[in-house]
Amino acid sequence: MCGIVGYIGEKKCVPILIEGLKRLEYRGYDSAGIGTIEDGECKVYKKTGKVSQLEDKINGREIKTPLGIGHTRWATHGAPTETNAHPHFNGKNSILVIHNGIIENYATLRKALISSGFNFISETDTEVLVHLIDSFKKKGFSLFESVRYALNEVEGTYGIAVISSDEPDKIIVAKKGSPLVIGIGDEENFIASDVSALISYTSQIVYLEDGEIAEVKKDSFCAKTISAVDIEKEIHEVTMSLDEISKGGYPHFMLKEIMEQPESIRNSMRGRLLHKEGTAKLGGLVGFEDRIADSKRIIITACGTSWHAGLVGEYMIEQFTGIPCEVEYASEFRYRNPIIGKDDTILFISQSGETADTLAALKEAKRRGALCLGVVNVVGSSIARESEAGVYIHAGPEIGVASTKAFTSQLIVFALITLLIARKKQLSHVDGKTIIKEIESLPEKIEKILKLNDHIEKIAEEFKDSLNFLYLGRGYNFPVALEGALKLKEISYIHAEGYPAAEMKHGPIALIDKNMPCVFLAPSDSVYEKIISNIEEVKARKGRIIAITSENDDKIDKMVDYTIKIPDTIRMLMPVLSVIPLQLLAYHIAVKKGLNVDQPRNLAKSVTVE
Ligand code: GLU
Repeated sequence: MCGIVGYIGEKKCVPILIEGLKRLEYRGYDSAGIGTIEDGECKVYKKTGKVSQLEDKINGREIKTPLGIGHTRWATHGAPTETNAHPHFNGKNSILVIHNGIIENYATLRKALISSGFNFISETDTEVLVHLIDSFKKKGFSLFESVRYALNEVEGTYGIAVISSDEPDKIIVAKKGSPLVIGIGDEENFIASDVSALISYTSQIVYLEDGEIAEVKKDSFCAKTISAVDIEKEIHEVTMSLDEISKGGYPHFMLKEIMEQPESIRNSMRGRLLHKEGTAKLGGLVGFEDRIADSKRIIITACGTSWHAGLVGEYMIEQFTGIPCEVEYASEFRYRNPIIGKDDTILFISQSGETADTLAALKEAKRRGALCLGVVNVVGSSIARESEAGVYIHAGPEIGVASTKAFTSQLIVFALITLLIARKKQLSHVDGKTIIKEIESLPEKIEKILKLNDHIEKIAEEFKDSLNFLYLGRGYNFPVALEGALKLKEISYIHAEGYPAAEMKHGPIALIDKNMPCVFLAPSDSVYEKIISNIEEVKARKGRIIAITSENDDKIDKMVDYTIKIPDTIRMLMPVLSVIPLQLLAYHIAVKKGLNVDQPRNLAKSVTVE
């Protein structure tokens, strides 16, 4: 959830830490802090709010030290105050710790440490780590061993970095359930919770696995498991460019990412369509295709936007493969003792690949012998590594907290998986080719929809002061209604609900009056006439209507306040198109309300706490 960064080398660490933190800010941003060792003493600088405020606080100080760690916090235990911000330190101020995750048994540990004489100053769970490490150091263990022993006592999740003025030539890092990477340089090394913080310095990356701990010096590193088994870590070459993670001239990452969708979905399908055979080829599933096609059941597990993509996936899979499919919130799945068999295939969907609930659901499902496949965006992420096999969605880095391009890329990957299974089962060669043709036509169609940006902005102006919204759709467009409502909630803080359009009359219709805008997803498909009836029902109660309709439809124009006309495609792929106007609508409403669309309040990009 938060961002971790660290440097050890020969340069001044502060500018490197601040730059890294800025790149990681999207992960969590209620406060920030850095810790260094200056003239043999630990020093801590903290500030609530943005990294730039921390930078202002530090500016003007002459900090030459080449060793430091930095953190952006997304509070889980204790308010976002300066005292609760990381790094946390021990009584003598000789050990500094930054932490991402949650120490679940912190209350018990805290009690025990307090009765042994340790003094706590923050409300965080993290602070127990510092005193626990300190307690082992006091027994004479090295910093590395003290951290290792401490971690053996904690339950929960962590990505941590620890430095000490007693051993000022190293950073100790460890990971369980939260990401942590080491960047290898020349006479300098880096640590971070995300490769994007490091790519301006190095492309040589070591991924720590759960239960691993490493000692990083300026010219070397070594790793062990926390139960003290030596391990050899491989160095990976990453190919992400700086350009890929900057705003590229757009005012916000979210708008950039919406506009990138023709390209991002092209990347999701690139090299994966077999025209001659009328099917798809997914490198990450090679060797598993038959097992998937023979599954008795497919379960899709995810959270948030990925869960909505999963619902579309369910419709696709059941329509084309004949395999029963269910979609489940990962947070429910992991705790409710689900019935899982060896003949089940379970798909775990997560943009970041770090979503704590999805990761835990994956571990549980693996234990029960199901085939576990990851569908993630971030290469080398925890879900990617834990899954038996899987598919990268290749949407490119998504920085805006509200997911946009990852959603459409997830839909493309669902279409490809469906095609692959369906062609092994009942789908004809000709139908397979039709699907491929339609998939390939999507980028151009999205380009056309993006040209409606100004029109959508005008609609946003009209509705920006509304207090509530209803989003209604049927069939494949029902999950899109949910996603449209979620987008609006996330960034504009307007209350919004998505419903299957026909459900409206079973309750939500009571809300409709002249102040209730309703967004209808009404393309010309098999449920068109039914949607028209639902539109009439809203009109009769004076609700205001925005309708997403097909290009060639002029019937709905006359019935509603605004239409946004989009190109047609086959039903299974319609969500890839119909969601785009909803992303733009939410974006413009939030911007017009003067809100921070890239970092909406209370949210974080990568939800690494349950
Ligand atoms: N649980 C820790 C805290 O509340 C770390 C939160 C985070 O991951 O940023 O301080």
